[in-house]
Amino acid sequence: MNEHQARVDELVREMGGYWKPFEMLTALVEEVGELADELLKVEGVKGKGNRDSLEEELGDVMFALACIANYYGIDLLKALKGSVEKYRIRDKSRLEEQHEVARG
Ligand SMILES: [Mg+2]
Repeated sequence: MNEHQARVDELVREMGGYWKPFEMLTALVEEVGELADELLKVEGVKGKGNRDSLEEELGDVMFALACIANYYGIDLLKALKGSVEKYRIRDKSRLEEQHEVARG
């Protein structure tokens, strides 16, 4: 567990412990919805927003995500590194395919 997740873990335990998995998933989805609202505001689609509110909602999403990861003993930074590598490999082969098509 990285230091950020350890801080989340400490706070969650102080507040009575982790929720059930589906409750945590619901909280994550709710926060993603709030992030969507703020992003729409920042982009001028739905009212007016600001970067600070967007940052706050991104933090809330990260917190909800960290709760789920902690519950299952998963290090989010390790998971992120894996995703970066996965996308790097996937997009590298996609770019190579596009170049091959462009060359004919
Ligand atoms: Mg929120």
